[in-house]
This record gives sequence, C-alpha cells and structure tokens, in this order.
Amino acid sequence: MKKILKYADSNMNRLVSELQTLIRQPSVSAKNEGIEECAKLVKKTLEKSGIKSQILRLGKNIPPLVYGELHSKKNPKKTLLFYNHYDVQPAEPFNLWDYPPFSAKVKGNKVFGRGSADDKGELITRIKAVQAHLKVNGDIPCNIKFVIEGEEEVGSPNIGKYLRKYKKKFSCDGVIWEFGYVDSKNRPIVGLGMKGLLFVELIAKESKIDVHSSLAVLIKNPAWRLVDAVKTLRNSQGRILIKDWYKEVTPLTKTDLKIIKQEPFDELVFKKEFKIKNFVGNKKGLEAKKALVAGATCNIAGFVSGYIGEGAKTVLPGEALVKIDFRLVPEMDPKKQVQRLKKHLKVNGFGDLQIKVYHGEAAARTDPSEPFVSQVRQAANESYGKSILNVSNAGTGPMHSFVQVLKAPCISIGSTYMFSRIHSPNEFARIDLLKKTTKCICLILDKFGKT
Ligand SMILES: [Zn+2]
Repeated sequence: MKKILKYADSNMNRLVSELQTLIRQPSVSAKNEGIEECAKLVKKTLEKSGIKSQILRLGKNIPPLVYGELHSKKNPKKTLLFYNHYDVQPAEPFNLWDYPPFSAKVKGNKVFGRGSADDKGELITRIKAVQAHLKVNGDIPCNIKFVIEGEEEVGSPNIGKYLRKYKKKFSCDGVIWEFGYVDSKNRPIVGLGMKGLLFVELIAKESKIDVHSSLAVLIKNPAWRLVDAVKTLRNSQGRILIKDWYKEVTPLTKTDLKIIKQEPFDELVFKKEFKIKNFVGNKKGLEAKKALVAGATCNIAGFVSGYIGEGAKTVLPGEALVKIDFRLVPEMDPKKQVQRLKKHLKVNGFGDLQIKVYHGEAAARTDPSEPFVSQVRQAANESYGKSILNVSNAGTGPMHSFVQVLKAPCISIGSTYMFSRIHSPNEFARIDLLKKTTKCICLILDKFGKT
C-alpha cells in the first residue's frame, strides 16, 4: 500500500491538470450545453488511466451515461462501483465569479471553476486512485465499475431507467457515492444516506389579465389565494400539516441516535457562515442535528406574482406561482405524498389551484452495521485523520434507485469542503483534500478487496 499511496502523492500535478481539462469543458445539463462533448472527454479520461470505457444511451434526447470497468485478476469475485456525474450546475450569475467559471484557475491550494468540486473533482480522485493501484501492481484489489451520469444536476430523471436496463452490467457489492463532505475542521464525513425530494409548483389564476388594483374590491387576488393556501401546509415550527404526511415514517433507531449524538455540529460556525441568529423553531443542540439528518421540510423555493420591478405599480395580478420543495425522509413515498398534498388542498378549499409535479425521489439509507461502513471509515481515518459518521445527508440524491435496484450498500466519502460554494459563484476544490481523498479511495479499494 505504501508504494501505491506514494504514487498517488507524486501524481497530484497530473490529477490537477486532468481536473482542469474536465472543468474547461462546460457540461451544463440544465441548458444541454456541452453534454455530449463532456461524455466523450470523460470516456477518454478513463481510458487514459487504464480503465475500459463505453458510452451508454437510453434515447436520443437523454444525456448519455459513461460506463467504466476493470477486472481484478487477484479478486474477481468482489466489485466496487463508483457513482459520479459529469454534468454541472449553470454558472450564472457570471459577474459574481472572480475568475471565469470554466477557466479552471488554480490559485494556491484551490482549483476554481464550475464543477471543480461538484462533481469533476470527486470523479478524478476515484479515477486516479484506481490508476495508482494499476501502475504499481498491474492489478486492482477488486473489480471496479464507474457509472457516470450526465443529468444529476437536473434531478437524475433517468438514472433509475439506466440502472434497471443495465442491472446486470452494474451489479456490485458496494457503491461509493458521488460526493463526500469535509467539515470546517477538515474531518471527512462518511455518509450513509440521502433524503428524498418532492418538487412541485402551485399556480393560482383569477382574471385573464393583470388589472388596475382599484378593482381589488371586486376581483380576487391570486397572490393572496396562494399565500392562504401555502400557509396551510406548514406551521411556523416547520411541522408539515398535511394529513398523514408522516404516517409511514419510523423513528430513529438507538444506533442512529448514538451516531447523531457523536456527530459534531458547530452551531456558531454554521450561523456565522449564513449570518443568521436562530434556527427554525429555535432548535438547538441535538434537535438541530436530528433535523439535519431526519427532518422533513416544506420549503418555498420561489414565489412570483404581479409587479416586482423598480418603484411602484398599482396592479392586481392575474396569476401567482409558487415553487415548493419537500425534503422526504425514509419510508415517505413521493407518489403517495403528491396524492396527500392534492387531497389537502382540495379539503382546504384550494382544489382550483393547478399543481405541477417536477420531481419525486425517495430517501435512502445504508445500515451502519454493514462491514463496508467500517472499511470506508478505517480508510478515511487513515488518510484524513479522524472521520465522522453521518446517518443521512440533509440533501437529496438518487441513492434510493441504487439501493433498490443494485441491492448494494451506498456510502458517500469525498473531497468537498463544506464551504466549497458548490452551486454558487466561485466554486472551488481544495488540492489538499483531493489528495487525501485519492489516498482514501486507494485504501478503500484495498480493504474492500481483502474481505
Ligand atoms: Zn450538485
């Protein structure tokens, strides 16, 4: 292992320059910008590192998935799968970037650029770790597979279809998730789950055009109507008021609670980062940590109606629109929750609102007692220093599809510093963390292959 880790160390300049090449190829799935080109570049990057690769397709207008595979001579019975994505978030607003978002500027310990951390930085650490084993031993400790999709940033609408179609090809004994956070004290977080998501849009309509606001004595205002409707969904403590919303949810287990208690969470640093005074419902300590891991949410993502330009305009809008995202916790079925939401609106007198469902994804968790968990933890402890176990990330990913179709435990571990500004201007990857993650993946391959 020493030689392999040393090889990974000495290969860091190559890693950074290959990451720069990946960043310089824009791949914005939301705008279908550079997707085909980036898929080809990723395939080339895999092949250059000794990993056989092919581009898989589901249909004409669906971004391709890049698949990589390598067989172990020593241990052909165990397979580790890396799930990553080559697409990125849009870079707008461009004027808030210190360097152009696709220029991949390196400054000190940071590589700046859209996708530098999310997810091209993570992807390159996995590729280079496999390459380090190959270069030193001419073999890898277990079979490896790469599943690199091109539409994670728009909610992975087709990953379930890809997984089902290529179920046999993708079969594996463990999945390393596409990202992993490192906290403000440089401790890596070994994540065992993701929350689900339900994204909807509600539209209220009244008069066919915006009218003079003097008519507000007679004409109903759809913005008021939407405000009234939205207010019935949740109380000020954050509790969702839709009937049976929490019906299937099981309480956290004793083990989960123990892990949550051990997980550090610096409330002051957190509040300072976002310049906020209090949390929702004035949560503190354990309650705040539990909410991050296992709390469901009903969040207004956007609300538009009427005139929002400069100065005053006395107008009564004809339409109002709200976008809402619900984070879901295990056992909440997005399809069932949509029905419950529709019923709730109807029962409360808002049956006339139009509902558009954008995206539904169930939550997933891996059992902390899985041997794979302790292997990843040991590797993380050795490469970064002390690691932290996390029952579930507060965010969402298509982990449920992987757990359900491949029946393999999924663990997230990676190089993304928690304030890396992913999805924001000036996203960056830290080179020291890319290095530690590459070594960590080298160690995971070793430990996983041995058992
Ligand atoms: Zn992202």
